[in-house]
Amino acid sequence: MSNSTKYVFVTGGVTSSLGKGIISASLAKLLQARGYTATIQKLDPYINIDPGTLNPYEHGECFVTDDGAETDLDLGHYERFLNDRTSQDNNVTTGRIYQSVIDKERRGEFLGKTVQVIPHITNEIKERIQLLGKEGKYDIVITEIGGTVGDIESLPYVEAVRQMKWELDGDCLVVHLTLVPYLAAAGELKTKPTQHSVKQLLELGVQPDVLCCRTEHELELNLRRKIAKFCNVSMNAVIESRDAETIYDVPLLMQAEELDRVVLEKLNLNTKSVPNLDKWKEFLTTLKNPDSEVTIGLVGKYVELKDSYKSISESFIHAGVANKTKVNLRWIHSESVNSDNVSEKMEGLDGILVAPGFGSRGISGKIETVRHAREQKVPFLGICLGMQCAVIEFARNVLGWAEAHTTEIVDNCNTPVISMMEEQKNISNLGGTMRLGAYRCHLTPGSKVSKAYSTDKISERHRHRYEFNNEFLDAFEEKGMRATGKNPDTDLVEVVEIDDHPWFVGAQFHPEYKSTVDNPHPLFVAFVKAVLENRK
Ligand code: GLN
Repeated sequence: MSNSTKYVFVTGGVTSSLGKGIISASLAKLLQARGYTATIQKLDPYINIDPGTLNPYEHGECFVTDDGAETDLDLGHYERFLNDRTSQDNNVTTGRIYQSVIDKERRGEFLGKTVQVIPHITNEIKERIQLLGKEGKYDIVITEIGGTVGDIESLPYVEAVRQMKWELDGDCLVVHLTLVPYLAAAGELKTKPTQHSVKQLLELGVQPDVLCCRTEHELELNLRRKIAKFCNVSMNAVIESRDAETIYDVPLLMQAEELDRVVLEKLNLNTKSVPNLDKWKEFLTTLKNPDSEVTIGLVGKYVELKDSYKSISESFIHAGVANKTKVNLRWIHSESVNSDNVSEKMEGLDGILVAPGFGSRGISGKIETVRHAREQKVPFLGICLGMQCAVIEFARNVLGWAEAHTTEIVDNCNTPVISMMEEQKNISNLGGTMRLGAYRCHLTPGSKVSKAYSTDKISERHRHRYEFNNEFLDAFEEKGMRATGKNPDTDLVEVVEIDDHPWFVGAQFHPEYKSTVDNPHPLFVAFVKAVLENRK
């Protein structure tokens, strides 16, 4: 639609957790609905190379892309909103920027110059931002800067934005998210924190073009006028961003505030296009008017921080809508489950999901949970470690191999039904070394999974080091746990299921990473469908 790629930067002020990711995704959705191609990138100012080595308690779930990048969970929102794939290029951290600059320095690429934050680090940042624009694939690249303006670690990013705005005059725009708090004692919304935060940006040489004001109450005209005046932005560029009932409402709320039109006008792009959000609105209508409700237990060890399972909980929202039902999740801490209380903990659940994870904490609770789901014939989905627990449980309680385990927990286990993949054995670095990203999988015709997907050839994303040990496969299949999904190149078992059960599926891959509003994931859809049928 335009000759050159336009760049929109999204910064945040006053506090974290204002929802930059959702605003970015919503803006991109609106632009996409008008026929523009848009992608979103997240720049994270921390020094880790990627979030793969971060504990989920730090930043929530680690999202994985098709090309095997371990990324920030905001990329999950981008994919779910846009129904488009992201890649390694969509998430960059300070660690990665520095690593790349230092590698260049070692190769002598800076020709004897002193290597400095400005220009070397800022140049590297600008290159990473423009990488997505260069391929000519996108009309608009939206770059979300993690953290809050004023943080020491985000300074080089704001400086890169300042330079780009100067260099690409007219092709760049800054949307600043800020908070307009309500002071109960005064009975008023307060604009001062917003003024301070914009001042902070101005001190760094950046004038925001649009202000998205997070607020719990209506932003009245006089307040908008005040903010516009003190922050040098036009009145129509003061956008109210009220708390929403669901994140999927936000694109429509932003449309009502004309965020997309303001952005397009300021970028000198055509605003005549009519946004088509019919499918999105249909999704929302069903989401808010379900025919029924079901309760599914999500058993994991990070349930105190629900962001740790973001893609799973969103997948259930999509799959619920596909089944015209509301999926209520009961979050169950795997450490709290044991053989004595498992029935009580699982009481009233229509379905059970055992979550992915690493290490020994909570694993016995996961195994007890699987036993309950298998024996009580409760529809079950196990993902990654959840699938591995299903295998261990079956080995112990059906095959009678009391010692069966994964070598992740018991290194010298004598019945290692789950063991380390051959190619993992000589790896000592933890970061970025797992089996990551998309791999092909062939499904057994007629199996529950092949019915779910309505095809026998799929590709799904992975993030693990351990695998089903094929040495034991015959014994499992004889007793009724079948490998119904296998990697055609390596023979690795990707799916197990039990026939004599309403719906019992374990997947070594992570289906949750591929569920979107437009394309709810077939495994989640089939699971919720089985839950509904089993209840009848
Ligand atoms: N810890 C297990 C492995 O590495 C499972 C990983 C996961 O659940 N993502 O194989």
